Amino acid sequence: MLRLVLFPLLAALNLAALAAPAEPVPATPAAAPATKTDVVDSWCDYLGNRLHSVSLDACHARNFTAAQEPTSQGNALVFVDIDAAKTSNPAPAAKRILVIGGIHGDELTSISVVFRWLDWMQQPDAAQYQWRVIPVANPDGLKARPSTRVNANGVDLNRNFQTPDWDKDAQKYWVKRTKRDPRRNPGKAAGSEIETRWLQAQFDEFRPDLIISIHAPYNLLDYDGPVPQPMRFGRLSLNRLGVYPGSMGNYCGLFKQIPVITIELPNATSMPSQRDQQAMWEDMLKWMKHYIKVETD
Ligand SMILES: [Zn+2]
Repeated sequence: MLRLVLFPLLAALNLAALAAPAEPVPATPAAAPATKTDVVDSWCDYLGNRLHSVSLDACHARNFTAAQEPTSQGNALVFVDIDAAKTSNPAPAAKRILVIGGIHGDELTSISVVFRWLDWMQQPDAAQYQWRVIPVANPDGLKARPSTRVNANGVDLNRNFQTPDWDKDAQKYWVKRTKRDPRRNPGKAAGSEIETRWLQAQFDEFRPDLIISIHAPYNLLDYDGPVPQPMRFGRLSLNRLGVYPGSMGNYCGLFKQIPVITIELPNATSMPSQRDQQAMWEDMLKWMKHYIKVETD
């Protein structure tokens, strides 16, 4: 009996001895590798300092998550889930809304608006949805000096999605129609960029019922997808821009049949008035209430 008790104990001691470090632990250990929390903290620090309308404290207080793989420049790809419905009133059928800002790094207001919306998502009309929010889809472009539309590899992420027409048309379109505009370079291959692949993984994993992608400065609404299009959100009215090889509207709206609303704010560096922002938000929720319905049996 005693042996039975002692044996595992001795075995454990033996294992502990084997696992013990050969050298004494130094008094001041080398700097620990950055944790995910560190990554998100410095992401918030950067945004809070860079964008007037982003509150440092509010950013730190949120439960942001960084992707495993950073961008080619080592910048974090970050998202947060806002699921007020789940905590207050379990609603497994809640529709999932994915909001994406800053896919073009020089459209600063597209990032700021997302942070404003994060506060509004807790309000009753919005809380019935399950939101996933990606405030900065192109952190390399944002951090470039000056900020750039494209990522650090010079690729327009919004032309790099793996649409069925990419191989046939993306390069051709870029050369002929844009005269090799460096701001609209679709990349060497569909999905060649880390950011694009990560966004595609988000679509597959989160399975959004609606995607809202925010841009600037064309001052309009665009729409791709299977349900009736929105006509007006606040001061923005519908003006279909067309479909491009490799764009998110093409990839999600046409190929994957997920409705994609593109909001083009009127200015890339100066925010719409509070009143205009609110009108846009309220019209958007009204449209969602009609067309992104919670199914009831
Ligand atoms: Zn844009």
